[in-house]
Amino acid sequence: MNSNELSTSLFNDYDNYREKKLNSDFISHSQLTELIRGIQTKNLFRVDKLGESLDCKEIFSVVLGEGETKILAWTQMHGDEPTATAALFDLFNFFSSKDLYDDLRKNLLKKITFHFIPMLNPDGAEMFTRENAFNVDLNRDALRLQSYESQILWDYAEKVEPEFGFNLHDQNSYYTAGRSDNASAISLLAPPMNHVKSINYIREKSMQIICRINDALSLFIPQNIARYKDDFEPRAFGDNFTKKGISTILIESGFYKNDMKKDFVRKLNFIALLSAFNSAAEKDYENTDHKKYFDIPENEELLFDLLLRNLTLNYNGRNFKIDIGINREKKRIKESQSFYYKSKIADLGDLSIFYGIEEYDLTGYQVIPDNKLSIDEPADLKIFFNGQLKKEVKNGFISDLNN
Ligand SMILES: [Zn+2]
Repeated sequence: MNSNELSTSLFNDYDNYREKKLNSDFISHSQLTELIRGIQTKNLFRVDKLGESLDCKEIFSVVLGEGETKILAWTQMHGDEPTATAALFDLFNFFSSKDLYDDLRKNLLKKITFHFIPMLNPDGAEMFTRENAFNVDLNRDALRLQSYESQILWDYAEKVEPEFGFNLHDQNSYYTAGRSDNASAISLLAPPMNHVKSINYIREKSMQIICRINDALSLFIPQNIARYKDDFEPRAFGDNFTKKGISTILIESGFYKNDMKKDFVRKLNFIALLSAFNSAAEKDYENTDHKKYFDIPENEELLFDLLLRNLTLNYNGRNFKIDIGINREKKRIKESQSFYYKSKIADLGDLSIFYGIEEYDLTGYQVIPDNKLSIDEPADLKIFFNGQLKKEVKNGFISDLNN
């Protein structure tokens, strides 16, 4: 099988490995711990407790393989970004299965030693927040290392000295692949090591691996892969790891149409990681021109959850044309696996360069807001046609009124 055939075959067989106990959009620390206890019983996996979060939740490493090439992959440094954690457990199931991929597994485990840290920020995961227990973003703490979680990741990377680092995140649903309305389902970054974004041998390898991931994912989502903006962030882990000599690859799981629960992007993560690992094992990335990395369209923030175009706003007796972009922020209902949405007006005015995941042309309709329209205000609106109330926007969702 060549690498395209392999990716296609894995894509078709993915359901055999999907960890059915995990949803893709929320994972509690107790669910994680239970699954870790499960794999601990299998000889293939070496599980260690690396330490505890600020609120005393265990953080684990899962090691497998005996190879010379060392790979470190961590997930959920941002608590509300669980997609890749779910994908790692799919991968663990893949590695512990026996089937037509036995040769691939054997080869990967012979050439690579994998170090995984699933859910680096369990406190944030539990609260479904980006930040940790004292509301600090771990990915801005790579210099000071003030949080236990950041220290754990840093120390572990120093100990393992991996050749490759996989920094696995979710991005919000508002990104597109280039200036288009194609949502960016996966975006990829070879983090820079300085403000002038130099490319040395270390970063070049990240770019080459990303090209191989791009080749694999292009088979399934050719329009929905983007290149994350490569501005240097001196306090971020990816940038500092690149500086340290670890070829780091950032994978962001984004939005894909009709995939609200993120099951499809989780599957794409599985494919992306296996294609990258296989390339690292075979070293075929060395034959890839790293400049192709720059052919991947840039991640642009051009989407709203709901875009209302061409409304009429009456202000002091005069009519104006206005577009309204509305976003819905997902919040967890405490102590449950359920969510609610808090919606707000994200932008106003001429939004003709933007797109809506859901959008309406409301030419001829008039918006009469309860309060003055303002950015960051709750998205509750009344929409009239010929003086009659026809549509209503409540908490960011639009409905037709049949009156
Ligand atoms: Zn993140």
